[in-house]
Amino acid sequence: MRLVLLGPPGAGKGTQAFKLSQILAIPQLSTGDMLRAAVSERTAIGRQAAEIMERGELVPDDLVVGLIADRIARSDAVSGFILDGFPRTVTQAESLDDVLGSHQLNCVLELKVDEQHLLDRILGRAMQARENGEAVRADDNQEALSVRLTAYANQTRPLTHYYAAKGLLKTVDASQPMDRVTAALVEAIA
Ligand code: ADP
Repeated sequence: MRLVLLGPPGAGKGTQAFKLSQILAIPQLSTGDMLRAAVSERTAIGRQAAEIMERGELVPDDLVVGLIADRIARSDAVSGFILDGFPRTVTQAESLDDVLGSHQLNCVLELKVDEQHLLDRILGRAMQARENGEAVRADDNQEALSVRLTAYANQTRPLTHYYAAKGLLKTVDASQPMDRVTAALVEAIA
C-alpha cells in the first residue's frame, strides 16, 4: 500500500501516519523528521535547510525529492509506505510520480481541519513541551507558524485538486478525537 497523508501543520499527520504505519506494517516516511535529523547531524542538506525551516518556509523541491527518492528505494519500502509531509508542491507530486514509475500511489488521504484551530493546537503543543522540559521545535512559534500555514494554503492545498483529478483523494475530518480519525482513515483506505 503506497499512501500519502496530506494536511496542514497541526492537523495530526505525524500521529496518524505513525498509527497507520503500525496497523498496516509499512514504514512512515516523514520529510520533516528526515530534515530535522539532517539539521541536528549538520549534514550538507541540514545546513541548507536549517534557516529555511526555522522561518517556516518550504525547502527547495530538488532537495526533498532527492531525500525521498533515496528513502523509497530502500528495501523496507518495497511493499509500501506512508508519506508524511511529502509531496508539498505540485512539482514534488510530479517528481514523485516519476520516481514511482509503474508502482503508483494507491490513495491520498487529506486531513481536513478548521484552520482557525491549528494555531491553538500547535502553540499549545509547544507550551506543553516547554512545561515538560522537552525540546520545542524551532518553527513552533507564532511567526513561523503563520508562514507554514500560508505555505500550506498557497503551495500544498492545490495538491488536493491534483490528486482528486487522478481519483486518488479521500478526505477525512481531522477535528474529531484521534482514534476516530484513525478509524476514518482505515475505512477510507479499505
Ligand atoms: P508541519 O506539517 O507541522 O509543518 P513537518 O515536520 O512536516 O511539519 O515540516 C517541517 C518543515 O520541514 C516545513 O515547514 C518545511 O520547512 C520542511 N519540509 C518538510 N517537508 C517538506 C517538503 N516536502 N518540501 C519542502 N519543505 C519541507
